[in-house]
Amino acid sequence: MRETTAKRYPLMPLRDIVIFPGMVAPLVVGRKKSIAALENAMENRSMIFLVTQQDDSIDDPGREHLYDIGTLATVMQLLRLPDGTIKALVEGKRRARITGLTEFDSFFSVEVEELPDIHTEGPEIEAYGRELYRLFEEFSRTNKKIPKEILTSIAGMENITRLADTVASHLTLKTGQKQEILERVSLPDRIALLMEAIYREVELSELEKTIQAKVKKKMADTQRNYYLGEKIKAIQEEMGQGEGGDDIAELEEIIARKKLPDPVREKVGKELKKLKQMPPMSAETTVVRNYIDAIVSLPWTEKTASTIDINRAEQVLEEDHYGLKKTKERILEYLAVQAQVKKIKGPILCLVGPPGVGKTSICRSIARAMDRKFIRLSLGGVRDEAEIRGHRRTYIGAMPGKIILSMQRAEVINPVFCLDEVDKMSMDFRGDPSAALLEVLDPEQNFAFNDHYLDLDYDLSEVFFITTANSLHGIPLPLQDRMEIIKLSGYTEEEKLRIAEGFLVPKQLEVNGFQPGDIRFSDQALLEIVRRYTREAGVRSLERTIASICRKVARDRLKKNQPDRAYRISRQSIGRYLGAAGYRYGLAEEQDAIGLATGMAWTEVGGELLQIESTLMPGSGKLTVTGKLGDVMQESARAAMSYVRSRAMRLGLEPDFYQKIDLHIHVPEGAIPKDGPSAGITMVTSIVSALLKIPVNRRIAMTGEITLRGRILPIGGLTEKLLAARRGNITHVLLPQENERDLKEVPAKIRNSLTIDLVNHVDEVLQKALLVREGEELFKDIPLESIYKDITVSSHNTPAH
Ligand code: ADP
Repeated sequence: MRETTAKRYPLMPLRDIVIFPGMVAPLVVGRKKSIAALENAMENRSMIFLVTQQDDSIDDPGREHLYDIGTLATVMQLLRLPDGTIKALVEGKRRARITGLTEFDSFFSVEVEELPDIHTEGPEIEAYGRELYRLFEEFSRTNKKIPKEILTSIAGMENITRLADTVASHLTLKTGQKQEILERVSLPDRIALLMEAIYREVELSELEKTIQAKVKKKMADTQRNYYLGEKIKAIQEEMGQGEGGDDIAELEEIIARKKLPDPVREKVGKELKKLKQMPPMSAETTVVRNYIDAIVSLPWTEKTASTIDINRAEQVLEEDHYGLKKTKERILEYLAVQAQVKKIKGPILCLVGPPGVGKTSICRSIARAMDRKFIRLSLGGVRDEAEIRGHRRTYIGAMPGKIILSMQRAEVINPVFCLDEVDKMSMDFRGDPSAALLEVLDPEQNFAFNDHYLDLDYDLSEVFFITTANSLHGIPLPLQDRMEIIKLSGYTEEEKLRIAEGFLVPKQLEVNGFQPGDIRFSDQALLEIVRRYTREAGVRSLERTIASICRKVARDRLKKNQPDRAYRISRQSIGRYLGAAGYRYGLAEEQDAIGLATGMAWTEVGGELLQIESTLMPGSGKLTVTGKLGDVMQESARAAMSYVRSRAMRLGLEPDFYQKIDLHIHVPEGAIPKDGPSAGITMVTSIVSALLKIPVNRRIAMTGEITLRGRILPIGGLTEKLLAARRGNITHVLLPQENERDLKEVPAKIRNSLTIDLVNHVDEVLQKALLVREGEELFKDIPLESIYKDITVSSHNTPAH
């Protein structure tokens, strides 16, 4: 249906909206001019020209503010509202362009030229139409702003022009865009523009969706994390733990304050970053945390100012230790060299000697003399390389090795570090700890010691290492090579007395809270303790026994309520404090006995007197050896027996004497393991004494290895053995001639207190030790050739010892 078209129409400017042909829209009209235009249209029953303003903000637009093209529309309804505005329902009809404008007072009147659509038919247009419909349908499915019924209403639309304009009116586009679509009179152009707009909308809405999803997720995550965080906090509070955050901040501050080498700081930084990202209570967190703690509690640069002043060192060593003249001299020489070369280089000191002779306490004095801190690590029983070097962090419960742990204790990089009992390390399938120790002690390598746990180079080059051992045997040779060995031997009774008086008693008085002089020990009392309550090379038990007396006195004082009473400990009163004596003093036999000879043995804990007993029984030539003897000592017994058999005729025995008897050799105190060849001559003496029924001089002790020909080979541990002899009340000792040079090493005091005979051959030993009755001869005069003819020769390659 066509409206009557006048050439002139009242004009109503629109804000914010473009009316398309076919579109029905309610408009709320308030501007006077617009109301007048509406009224004019109603009066004249004419259409109204609706055109959009280029700029919404202008209230009273002129021609220049209006687009050229608009829509002719009919006014379907007018409704006056009480506030003076009008609600109008309009329907767009046709496109038109303004060709002339007359301005009345009350409204604009325009002359327009209608703009018919072009290219509205043909298969191409149909295809366009279908594509537009499909696209719009798809778009409306995702876009909630488009009412469902629109789709149904346009589904049956055959007129593609109508379709295009309806779609255009339902899209939420900017006014400028809509105007542009309105202005396209060519239908294909219009549809193309529309589709472009829809595509953009689809894209935008998809983008919007992903953004929305992201935002949503982020919000959910933050909420979730917040929720979990709160929960953890609550749990921690329940468990009585503080907030993790403070802890880490504290740690960070400590790290920031600590001086660390660059690679270490870098590593700690990385670990700290890891730590911050971890939930505070996981197992992994503890691992990282422990690692950081291990690094932080280790000294990296801290050190004590230390100088070596030889005079002061000498003074300190003298103050702390009695005697040990040679040891002190060697130590001072060593320190002097260190002072000259400034940096610790060259061999490591190794103090070797029996327990309780002051090895550790000398190390302590060295530390004091050098003004350095002292730490001590016992290597006894260490059998795993990882104990020295630590476990890799991948192990559960991994820790740094003992060296690094000790350095943590030291808190400085230059302590005096005493490695005790280096001879007691063992080796097994878990690797050789001594190899790791070699690296620790080697000045060429130890500036970059790599602990498996730390996995960082640690500088040990400023550490002053000292090692101690009971004997050299257990120390691997490569390690011995790096060491400067200083031997300490046991103490004589006099030395022990002086040490007790000058050092142990004052020390124990102080430790137990007495004033100097509160307890006085008489010399006889101390001697009694040394002789009958202790048996040792060093003074450890002596010190312990003195401590025990001090404690008993302290108790007595309190009991009697006499806190200032002074005590005198005499030989007679010792028993009251210590009970019955534990050891028999003077191991020399009370009587000269047949078949009982006294030897001198050396063990790691010092020298010992060794009684060797032989008895004969009727039998068939069996040799039994008892007393927990090692292989070498058993062989030694057999060699002794062979020697005696070879000498049978000369000794006045029948050549087949051994076939009618069994011989039992016993070495008492079987609990102590004994080994070594040095009891050879003692065994021979004991056997011969038993066979010939001639007693052995009880004041004689002997030591020496024998060959099958009766020659005597040198032995080791001379000083310790002679000390034992003196302790055992022996006056006369028989030593191998070849040990003569070693005698010079033995303190003169010991040497002079004994009659020392150097012997070459067992025959000499027998001559001296057996108490042959006057007028009798030990050896029968028989040519030697006849004696040796049936002897088998075995090689002697066991070390002299
Ligand atoms: P080691 O390490 O050789 O087994 P220690 O150093 O533990 O022996 O010594 C044991 C005790 O004996 C320490 O209290 C030490 O001070 C003391 N001591 C050892 N020798 C002497 C000495 N010559 N002078 C003073 N005290 C000594």
